[in-house]
Amino acid sequence: MKKKYNIAVLPGDGIGPEIMKQAYKIIQIINQKFPIVLNTQEYDVGGIAIDKFNNALPKDTIEGCKKSHAILFGSVGGNKWNHLPEEKRPEKASLLFLRKKFDLFLNIRPSKLESELFYLSPLRQDISKKGFDIMCIRELTGGIYFGKSEYDKSKEYAFDTENYFKNEIIRVAKKAFQLAQTRKKKIVSIDKANVLKTSILWRKTVDEISINFPEIKLSHMYIDNATMQLIRNPSKFDVILCSNLFGDILSDECAEISGSIGMLPSASINENNFGLYEPAGGSAPEIAGKNIANPIAQILSLSMLIRYSIGNIKIADLIDSSVKEALLKNFKTKDISRNGENYISTEDMGNIICKFLLKRI
Ligand code: NAD
Repeated sequence: MKKKYNIAVLPGDGIGPEIMKQAYKIIQIINQKFPIVLNTQEYDVGGIAIDKFNNALPKDTIEGCKKSHAILFGSVGGNKWNHLPEEKRPEKASLLFLRKKFDLFLNIRPSKLESELFYLSPLRQDISKKGFDIMCIRELTGGIYFGKSEYDKSKEYAFDTENYFKNEIIRVAKKAFQLAQTRKKKIVSIDKANVLKTSILWRKTVDEISINFPEIKLSHMYIDNATMQLIRNPSKFDVILCSNLFGDILSDECAEISGSIGMLPSASINENNFGLYEPAGGSAPEIAGKNIANPIAQILSLSMLIRYSIGNIKIADLIDSSVKEALLKNFKTKDISRNGENYISTEDMGNIICKFLLKRI
């Protein structure tokens, strides 16, 4: 008997539906060839849901997510909905709500540069040619984005508050150490412990957790230094552990130096391994519908879902290596082609990755 998993699929806006279509092709292969079934059910989210129901996250969508083992998310947003008040806009009303609703405190963003694709990176060639493989772990439901804040326009005065409870740090740090065990066994924890009280607690707590993981080499780095070291020598990093604010900044820097937002997936997971998986980039409205978007971020998001929420490392590894083979054999979408020439379409990239996956089974 095949084991069944319910997956809520939320394609969203812009390029979301067309790159999701390529992930569906992979799901079809998995359902046919592997001993698991991914039961997909599609729901509206983002701008398209606003147009239909005047709500970026309709009740049906939330209920559908609740009934699922994981959420595969596309992307949301676009100019059409930018006039709305902030809390009604697609991103805030859907993504931020889902993160909080399902307590998705652990955000994982891999950032990889194969040395063969060095030319994509804005870094100097002698640095980018070394390639890198970084896993940025960001605490996602605490810190300054959720602290007390105020903007008093009459006094022209505003404040935001960074605050953390120890248990919020413990749970994300533990996950980071467990992840590091499956990689090069080293973590750099980011803080500003020379100035901020929350960072002092952060560093002390991470040190305490590290006692349970003697095989992992832990070091600490101030956020300002980390932003420099990532440009200077990204290949020396493996797992980076950050608070919500510092992780927001560093994960974008990691994406930028890899040079290809269209290839970067991201996972947001809770204590029970329920997660939301989505491309790191947005809805790229200016290229939507042109069959030129890169589907790799969406396909790798599916691979992360299978790895972390379903726990099937073998299938996830097969998807990852099929993507790698497509890149190494020089199949490129427009965003990663040299000088924007000799590129293949979104559909073709999806088909080629499927072909390499089938070859591996
Ligand atoms: P974006 O990530 O959509 O686009 C930035 C650049 O990257 C553009 O040049 C775009 O063409 C390119 N790009 C992104 N994904 C690509 C892909 N798969 N293939 C090829 N090229 C790709 O960011 P933006 O332009 O700042 O935002 C556009 C919309 O997306 C806005 O409405 C924003 O609010 C929304 N957004 C949504 C999310 C999300 O759903 N998680 C994240 C960021 C932005």
